[in-house]
Amino acid sequence: MHILSSSKNVLVIGYGISGKAASSFLKSKGHNVSVFDDKTLTEIPDVRAFDVVVKSPSVPVMGHNRHCIIKQAMALKIPVLSTFDVFRLYNPEAKIIAVTGTNGKSTTTALIYHILKDTGFSVQIGGNIGISYFDLQPAEWYVFEMSSYELVSSNYLDFEVACVLNIEPDHMEFHGSFENYIEAKHLALDNAKLRMVSADDPFTMKRYGDLDNVITVSTECNYSSDVYICEGTLRDKESDRLILDFAGILNLRGKHNHQNIEFAYIVCKRLGVTSREILKSLHSFTPLPHRTNIVKKIGNVTFVNDSKATNPPSASKALSTFIGYKIYWLVGGRSKKIDSIPYVKPYLAEIQKIYLFGESMDEFESAFQNIKETVRCQTMLNALNLAFKDAKKEVSLTVILLSPMCASFDQFDSFEHRGNEFVRFVEMLEQTDG
Ligand code: ADP
Repeated sequence: MHILSSSKNVLVIGYGISGKAASSFLKSKGHNVSVFDDKTLTEIPDVRAFDVVVKSPSVPVMGHNRHCIIKQAMALKIPVLSTFDVFRLYNPEAKIIAVTGTNGKSTTTALIYHILKDTGFSVQIGGNIGISYFDLQPAEWYVFEMSSYELVSSNYLDFEVACVLNIEPDHMEFHGSFENYIEAKHLALDNAKLRMVSADDPFTMKRYGDLDNVITVSTECNYSSDVYICEGTLRDKESDRLILDFAGILNLRGKHNHQNIEFAYIVCKRLGVTSREILKSLHSFTPLPHRTNIVKKIGNVTFVNDSKATNPPSASKALSTFIGYKIYWLVGGRSKKIDSIPYVKPYLAEIQKIYLFGESMDEFESAFQNIKETVRCQTMLNALNLAFKDAKKEVSLTVILLSPMCASFDQFDSFEHRGNEFVRFVEMLEQTDG
């Protein structure tokens, strides 16, 4: 028996991918389900008619901008559950590996899933990666990408393993403050049997560094960490062994991806997969699209699609991957209002010009004033054309990098839409350039 067993009438708020899937699932379990979505402008339902409210991940729940239905439900002491809670309550036996952090969640989640599947585990992948919990097949293990939205909204968090990859400022509008955002990420660790944390992350180390059942992962040559990187190789303190040489891993480049590999390695190792099996599976992993992906080379210009870089920390990782290149950088969209300069400063020698598009043009124009030349381009297509005109004059290694540091919603449906458009425009460029 759980709270949903005795709840006949359920109101689902938010009717996107998660809300729709949760509604169908709840109906299949015999609940009377009503749905409400702000976008459809229907009348706000009387919350008193429901036993439980289920919220989609992005519905605001924090004090500063709590959704009015959640406010009412809380005042009436009607339970508010997340979509994760619904999954958890109906799948109490599921062994869950939760992956969270500001950047690298999807890549690490996909990598853990790939290695476990490859080595014969009964495993499913889902959550914030875009696959609803309710579309999954029964399995022994579930690897879930957990967003901070979902973590802070859930009442039944319970993980076998939780990884917090990194924490940088992001999603302030939802959480209200950076402190709240950190708290949300840490909920994953508070509710896990085995906790994997980044030794490079001061916020997490301060709180969890000295606790039991904590495994530390560093991207530096940090001998006190359980897993660390020295001279371009992954080392495991426990076996005192060099596990792999990153020079041989061509499908996941850059220090940020090395961090993702470290986490995937240690999770799978703790689940009993051997280093040799992990290495073999790593080579057959296909990187997810829109994350520092090389689209094409035209002459000496390489085009890179990093549309998923929706905040300055993630864009800085893409910039760091192209040290030694001349970078023509495409930036813009709906700003996260985070000071980008500290993240960009180390790469000023590489960056030649910044091509701005979308609603954040004014903000970045003034931010980079006196630091780097910017060009106002309005649209991404215009930015690409102007960047290519400049970049093709170069004789050395040159990259046109879409790593926009912003959300996409001002001009595109999603980061995938923005990335696909970029790829399409590059193809067009090749035809017209020929
Ligand atoms: P998330 O699901 O957390 O958004 P992704 O794997 O989709 O993470 O990657 C998002 C962006 O962050 C991409 O631009 C990628 O290049 C960058 N990135 C990936 N892994 C990391 C990491 N460990 N640290 C920082 N940035 C990363």
